[in-house]
Amino acid sequence: MIIIMKPCAAQDSISAVVASIEAKGLSAHLSRGEEVTIIGVVGDKSKLSTENLAVYKDVDRIVPVTESYKLSNKKFHPEPTTVKAGNTAIGPGSLTIMAGPCAVESEEQLMCIARAVKAAGATVLRGGAYKPRTSPYSFQGLEEEGLRYMQTAGKETGLATICEVVSLPAVEAAVKYVDILQVGARNMQNFILLKEVGRTGMPVLLKRGLCATIDEWLNAAEYIMSEGNPNVILCERGIRTYETATRNTLDLSAVAVMREKSHLPIIVDPSHSTGSYKYVPPMAKAAVACDADGLMIEVHNDPAHALSDGPQSLTFQHFEQLTRELKPFCELVGRSFVIPGNITDENAAFQNAAAENIAFGNAVSESVPPENIAIRDPEVK
Ligand code: PEP
Ligand code: MN
Repeated sequence: MIIIMKPCAAQDSISAVVASIEAKGLSAHLSRGEEVTIIGVVGDKSKLSTENLAVYKDVDRIVPVTESYKLSNKKFHPEPTTVKAGNTAIGPGSLTIMAGPCAVESEEQLMCIARAVKAAGATVLRGGAYKPRTSPYSFQGLEEEGLRYMQTAGKETGLATICEVVSLPAVEAAVKYVDILQVGARNMQNFILLKEVGRTGMPVLLKRGLCATIDEWLNAAEYIMSEGNPNVILCERGIRTYETATRNTLDLSAVAVMREKSHLPIIVDPSHSTGSYKYVPPMAKAAVACDADGLMIEVHNDPAHALSDGPQSLTFQHFEQLTRELKPFCELVGRSFVIPGNITDENAAFQNAAAENIAFGNAVSESVPPENIAIRDPEVK
């Protein structure tokens, strides 16, 4: 840390700052210019409060020279980290696809989606049991019942499972049923929650906050890791900007920046960042091309009737097409990605039935949130 004194700072002021540094057992190195004196602090700066030093007389500004995050920092851990979860591993060399509905709606729905995403190459099943919705009147999730369905679907398909946790009781419940805990964008700076998921020792996917800087995001990861949990996966899910054509603005440069700053794996969520199923495939490809370790994609058997985030959810066919199209991008960046097979007949039938409802206009009912209809293609209108 460097303390820059105001031009022509009084000697008394300089001595007061030096005394305060030395009183904490650190040493101060003075560099006197013609006008400005700079004080370098050597030692464990966590013993020193920058806020307090800033109010000393004649202090102009304080410049940190090392980041406040250590455990997530690549400088202290140059090798990239691989996080193991269930039957899969997220990190260098492979592309992990996490896919599934925004929200777990029923056991039948989840099983059907789980089989379809597995057949198309996903290794992690996503599904929200606790939904932090913008409106308190929107579907809030099935809670523990939803977690049980996730566990069943994971066991039946062999997929690892991930669920968002929004509170301490949700963490307590989720650790019994799923393989990865997700901390959502709205909770990225819920420090009590971060510490709690840290204490579980389980893999944690930490989404970037809506307005969070990369430093704030890494400090949030540090909260989890400082509880003794090294299993953190970062997820870029778009940030708020002035642009309104997409739900958020996908900051793919965050992947490149994170590669330089941190050893943690980073995945990209093209669903929440764009808000439209139309933009998910190109952004997913771009994410792989810039060397993300994985993707999180919302997939639904019947997006027009989804209880949340229908407009950004891919159908099974779109998802399968996307994973096929991702293959050459994986090869370009040297990541392995195996597509195990095709969508099962059973799942195709389930989805075709939903698609027929839409085609014949049955779908446009009271139960379809207007935004689901608005964004999708003519066949839905
Ligand atoms: C989600 O993954 O369903 C979700 C709510 O995401 P985010 O926290 O990125 O909004
Ligand atoms: Mn969602």
